[in-house]
Amino acid sequence: MEHKNAWENYPEGEARQKVMDFAEDYRRFLSKCKTERECVQEFVVLAEQAGFTDLNELLAKGTPVKAGDKVYVNHMGKALALFVIGTQELEKGMNILGAHIDSPRLDIKQVPLYEDTELALLDTHYYGGVKKYQWVTLPLAIHGVFAKKDGTVVNVNIGDKPGDPVFGISDLLPHLAAEQMEKKGSKLIEGERLDLLIGSIPMQNDEKDEKEKEAVKKNILKILKEAYHIEEEDFLSAELEVVPAGEARDYGFDRSMIMGYGHDDRVCAYPSFLATLQVQKPEKTSVCLLVDKEEIGSVGATGMHSRFFEDTVAEILNLQGVFSELALRRAMRNSCVLSSDVSAAYDPNYPEVTEKRNGAYFGKGLVFNKYTGARGKSGSNDANAEYMARIRNILDERKIAFQTAELGKVDQGGGGTIAYILANYGMQVIDSGVPVLSMHAPWEIISKVDLYEALQGYEAFLDMV
Ligand code: MN
Ligand code: MN
Repeated sequence: MEHKNAWENYPEGEARQKVMDFAEDYRRFLSKCKTERECVQEFVVLAEQAGFTDLNELLAKGTPVKAGDKVYVNHMGKALALFVIGTQELEKGMNILGAHIDSPRLDIKQVPLYEDTELALLDTHYYGGVKKYQWVTLPLAIHGVFAKKDGTVVNVNIGDKPGDPVFGISDLLPHLAAEQMEKKGSKLIEGERLDLLIGSIPMQNDEKDEKEKEAVKKNILKILKEAYHIEEEDFLSAELEVVPAGEARDYGFDRSMIMGYGHDDRVCAYPSFLATLQVQKPEKTSVCLLVDKEEIGSVGATGMHSRFFEDTVAEILNLQGVFSELALRRAMRNSCVLSSDVSAAYDPNYPEVTEKRNGAYFGKGLVFNKYTGARGKSGSNDANAEYMARIRNILDERKIAFQTAELGKVDQGGGGTIAYILANYGMQVIDSGVPVLSMHAPWEIISKVDLYEALQGYEAFLDMV
């Protein structure tokens, strides 16, 4: 099974420029949208520009939904479903591109702020599968919200704009790290040592005789009050995410790759979204489903386990005047899904974790994982051969570069995606996505040509009848 390098399909000139231009759009998106909330916000703006209507507006007025209509649902600002209604009845099924928009990071705790030796710090709790030692001594930014008691929500985005300060987590100097370096990797940097240093100037005290207690912390609170109009208690109802500071960058002399934070899984979410924007009056209803919380098990109201997607389909059937429990079940069961999530790219530094014939490689296009799982495919969706055959057929017809892969050697490890959750409805589901190097590290790498093949592949999938 020799796969030729997908770059060869895009010779220098116009063809290659298209690949590079799309990658540049993506690079900018990735630099700007570092949280699930920021992704939803950006996608809603782009969707409205492309003629999508908020389903809640249609529900309020009882406006019927018909073929060719474009609707979206923003679920709690952290998950998003977009539909381009097909000419075929919804109960014949949908073509669904599903991806997740949360990424591994450090979340600020609810009672985070403290002072130690006249330094102010914020305590964090890591989110998702991170190698903790990778998060120290890096410039970090804080993105998120404070939700206040009066119902207002204050946005925070500091560390990424030009001139912004950054934050960080310290690590021991080698001179004093002899004991630390003897520890195993998982203990090298422990979760409770991931505290973010945020300030060191004490609050000015004009009555010189009495020394202010926790004056540095007080000074930080004063700054936060001026900037965000919040009190210390407002951390109780905040969602603040600590993410790597700085833009995604072109990578390599030939600029063939992008280094950025959160490729997993925005490198699949972005082409999925754009493929859906390009659909006009399809035969089968096209859906782009972007969910939160995949990195912690797809739990919670905004994760894939939530009923929000099923409920949205029910609402659409209702606006079409054809809702019944059975119609809903059929619409779900007859659907086809690309569970779009990243694959582990073959790493020449670590050849031993990949079985070479079944690895994913940079430059070989969109990756299909028939199954994921661990310890004998446990927890895996394991797509149907017949479904994979249909997909191979359409990709070959359109000359789209694709490859198939497993996540590492048998018994090397494993992982999961949202695939199995949608498969519970009896849908056809397969995992597919872009290979990523250094997955879950603060800065991950992808190949621009794989991103472009993903866009082509997702467009082809949405055309499937
Ligand atoms: Mn993922
Ligand atoms: Mn992941």
